[in-house]
Amino acid sequence: MTSPVNDVGALLVVGDVRTMDPARPRAGAVGIRGDRIVALGSVDEVRRELGRGRVVEHDAGGFVLPGFVDSHVHVLWAGRAQERVGLDDATSIAEIGHRLLAHDARHPGTGWIEAEAGFDPGDLAEGRLPTATDLDAAVPHRPVLLDRKGHDAIVNTAGLQAAGIDATTPDPPGGRIEHTRDGRPTGLLVEHPAADLARAAIGEPDDARRAGWIETGTRLLRGHGFTGVMDPAVGPGELAAYAAAARSGRLATRVVVMPLGDDHLDDAALQAAVRRSGVAGADPGRLRVGPTKLFLDGGGSLGTAWRSTPWPGTDGYTGNRTLSVEALRTHCRSAAAAGRGVGIHAVGDAAVDLVLDALEEVDRRTPVAGLGFHLIHAYLEPSARAMRRTASLGVALSAHPALWWNAGASVVDRLGEAVAARSNPLRSWIDAGVLVGGGSDGPGPPLSALHGMWQARTRRIRGSEHPVGPGEAITAEEALALFTTRAAAVAGLDGLGRLRVGGPADLAVTDVDPLGPAGPLPGGRVLATVTAGALHVP
Ligand SMILES: [Zn+2]
Repeated sequence: MTSPVNDVGALLVVGDVRTMDPARPRAGAVGIRGDRIVALGSVDEVRRELGRGRVVEHDAGGFVLPGFVDSHVHVLWAGRAQERVGLDDATSIAEIGHRLLAHDARHPGTGWIEAEAGFDPGDLAEGRLPTATDLDAAVPHRPVLLDRKGHDAIVNTAGLQAAGIDATTPDPPGGRIEHTRDGRPTGLLVEHPAADLARAAIGEPDDARRAGWIETGTRLLRGHGFTGVMDPAVGPGELAAYAAAARSGRLATRVVVMPLGDDHLDDAALQAAVRRSGVAGADPGRLRVGPTKLFLDGGGSLGTAWRSTPWPGTDGYTGNRTLSVEALRTHCRSAAAAGRGVGIHAVGDAAVDLVLDALEEVDRRTPVAGLGFHLIHAYLEPSARAMRRTASLGVALSAHPALWWNAGASVVDRLGEAVAARSNPLRSWIDAGVLVGGGSDGPGPPLSALHGMWQARTRRIRGSEHPVGPGEAITAEEALALFTTRAAAVAGLDGLGRLRVGGPADLAVTDVDPLGPAGPLPGGRVLATVTAGALHVP
């Protein structure tokens, strides 16, 4: 149920209010008129302030918090995932086959079957990823693509054929087509440049379909109490879909989009695409253009992050760099010169160091602090020196406890628990003086901010009964700030993340106290969300 309060007069939200405003940290009620907070105080004070006339009262008996903010969640992908075969929680290759077969029976045809495949080899009974041959055993007659966390892809033989990949296809720069010992493609396409060969064969969905995914994604996030989110990889075609969704009032949260650049799309071309899309003027209260997004390396659980030391069990392989150093430099230089920022996906320590080299060079000409520049992930053993350099540049970090919870087990398998204990070191990042904003990196990892706060406080990872690197845990106050004030600062959503008279009327009401014990947080529920004054009760 959603009721825009503009239609009903004023809204009074009663509960245990945590404002995140040091000047008035607690209250008993929030008064809202239009899209603004007009009163904060005891229930009687706020009621008096709102005066007579129609006042809708919402008292769910919960904790009233600033609307949650996620500085890194793939909104469009989250909506799209609802249409795909869900394999994230599959426990064996046989089960993957059954689910694909069941989908094929429900949706017969000859077109591609796409699936979300967030599992790691250790999650499957066979201890390895499926191959094209495994997928053929279930679905041989139409192409199948398993999407590995937006990075890698696994396709069946029909998929390899549709993508035009055979034993003679060369690896594209930054990507790898995995082969069997006798030279045939296994079906695994490592990193964007290789996976894109198959994604291109699927073709581009139209704006209406994409706008539907965006609407679904924002509704999902609103259900988790988010009122502001940053979608961190929006291609030129997707920008237009965002503009369409905003114009037709279908964004259930405020969204900041990060236009995706790469080696082939420089800053000028990317900004031209932004202008053409109409995204900037579609609905400025709901939709904004944020920093450019660049992918520099792979992932920790994928074993493709770019490290200073080789991945164990490989022949000196240090990971995949998916962007040229020149493109990294020119994107950052052009954006800074125009007063804009860039968010750079950099997981491994070598990738993080390369970003800092590039930004220090840009900073000598144009100071980068305050422009929206931020590291994305930076979780795999960043050095103390890298943290100091990040702080002194005034560059932020978008950090993702839910991603780390999800990927941690695979990193333990690949690199050992001592490395995992030093990874995603939020305590050290914050102590170094870096602005750290939270996010989930969903879909795949849980979208819930409460789950993210719990992970950041407990350092638990999926499948483990003990904290991994408890010295890197942060406090309850810091964890709440991660998904309110700090995420808002990283996303450039001024005024969000804090409840203040005169500020935006964005609230989340929960049945657990984020400032109480951590244990109940993952099971906590969001009872209501208020976005720009509109009350939504799930
Ligand atoms: Zn991401």
